[in-house]
Amino acid sequence: MAQTAVPSTSAAGERPAPVGIPLREILPWAVFAAVLGAVLIYFVGAEQGATSLIGGTWVHEFTHDGRHLLGFPCH
Ligand SMILES: [Zn+2]
Repeated sequence: MAQTAVPSTSAAGERPAPVGIPLREILPWAVFAAVLGAVLIYFVGAEQGATSLIGGTWVHEFTHDGRHLLGFPCH
């Protein structure tokens, strides 16, 4: 007989109440992670040439390996 970490039924045959996911607590962190991810994708994938917001090539050089790893066109 297979055993699980959480019993599916109690001795009386009742199932435990499911644990709710607190969306109101998760939403600000999800938005923050999405914005941070978008900024990272921008700097890795598009911060070069005509779309560059920061002068010089240090951002391009800093994210160069990540650009190649993720398959963004580079050189
Ligand atoms: Zn390159």
